[in-house]
Amino acid sequence: MEDMSCERFVDLMGDYVERVLPSDERPPMDAHLLVCRQCRELLADYKRIPKVVRRVTNVTMPLNVQARLRRLLSGAWRSRS
Ligand SMILES: [Zn+2]
Repeated sequence: MEDMSCERFVDLMGDYVERVLPSDERPPMDAHLLVCRQCRELLADYKRIPKVVRRVTNVTMPLNVQARLRRLLSGAWRSRS
């Protein structure tokens, strides 16, 4: 099994939070959360996103939202390090 990257984590995070992620995808994400503080914080932030927004992203996160999230993330990561 390949190691999960932060990028992949972000891709799957919406499904993870909404618990629609296939069960075989969850263990790598749990493992990544244990070793990656950035993604832990990101996940905590994501869970604070208003439900109305999350409902929209429930089925598939639109690409523009993903892109915005990534920009937000990379900015946050830069400011923390
Ligand atoms: Zn990560």
